[in-house]
Amino acid sequence: TSFGYKQVREEDKSKLVGNVFSSVASSYDLMNDLMSVGLHRLWKDRLISKLNPFPGMKHLDVAGGTGDVAFRVLERIKSVGHRAMQGTLTETEEDTHIYVCDINPNMLNVGKKRAAERGYSKEHCLSWVQGDAEALSFEDGSMDGYTIAFGIRNVTHIEKALSEAYRVLKRGGRFLCLELSHVDVPVFKEIYDVYSFSVIPTIGELVAGDRQSYQYLVESIRRFPNQEKFAQMIQEAGFQRVEYENLVGGVVAIHSGLKL
Ligand code: SAM
Repeated sequence: TSFGYKQVREEDKSKLVGNVFSSVASSYDLMNDLMSVGLHRLWKDRLISKLNPFPGMKHLDVAGGTGDVAFRVLERIKSVGHRAMQGTLTETEEDTHIYVCDINPNMLNVGKKRAAERGYSKEHCLSWVQGDAEALSFEDGSMDGYTIAFGIRNVTHIEKALSEAYRVLKRGGRFLCLELSHVDVPVFKEIYDVYSFSVIPTIGELVAGDRQSYQYLVESIRRFPNQEKFAQMIQEAGFQRVEYENLVGGVVAIHSGLKL
């Protein structure tokens, strides 16, 4: 039946996604820098600017295994707090909590290790939670912010992840998603196609010794809904004031919405 077919396909997808990130976790940082020519750092900074983190906030970063986004949120909050209190930890700052949720324990371990290296511990308001974006373990209305960076594309049922994001946010809470998206600029689109179909799998083979995972990555970008369609899905999940910003002609897009 078509249902049976769909189920097999989805199981394959979860398995494949798991394999991709288990085999990739170790060379993950290097690959990110190489593939995006370092730009992913700027894109993540832009995401944090849009989030506008504040001392005392409860924030959830989904698919955030390596902690890249969470560390930025924390650093931004500290700089805000420090400006106000000249270096001392304020009470509200101590209430700050950032939860990093990821389905893959290997990625979480990379993140935990990095947190330790940076001198962040549990007291410094970071929690690492293994879990699925489609079925979060957090309570309704418990978060001021939700981010997902380069993660939602890998989720099997995007609508479920979006409705979970909506559920865990407080009223007034902000949803932000950074994701590889669709380029719609003539000439640049052709160049980007060549880059993604030939260059990325080749870098994957040479650096991570894994062409197939990076081929999968490129195909998953093509399959992901375009900016308008994805914005519509976010709206359908209940979010208001949904908008998006294209970076580098749509190579990546930041979608945002509010739970009002
Ligand atoms: N957010 C990080 C960043 O930007 O550097 C990591 C992005 S990495 C490309 C994608 C992450 O999504 C992986 O750590 C993977 O384990 C996680 N992931 C995939 N499917 C997931 C799901 N259903 N729920 C939660 N995390 C998931």
